[in-house]
Amino acid sequence: MSPKKIQIKEKKFLIVDWDDNSNSAIKLYNLRHYCPCAICNAEKEERSKTYIPIYSNEQLTVSQISMVGQYAVGITWKDGHNTGIYEFKELLKLSE
Ligand SMILES: [Zn+2]
Repeated sequence: MSPKKIQIKEKKFLIVDWDDNSNSAIKLYNLRHYCPCAICNAEKEERSKTYIPIYSNEQLTVSQISMVGQYAVGITWKDGHNTGIYEFKELLKLSE
């Protein structure tokens, strides 16, 4: 399954239209929170599991979305963070 179209809705959700005509809505907060990059993973490991981060507006604003090969989507946030590569299956998981 791969995305046909990806868009931001109401500055709160990433909406993915898949090629099987289903769609996923992912809260931008969750997208940022579960950023799979090495930097964020290292930060998460240092924190306790119950830590709930507060993000700034810029950290929760997507400035660019790009396809990475045939398997993932790269998100650039307005604060400049651009190392998060989300595999399609991760996007599906985050939408549940
Ligand atoms: Zn990250």
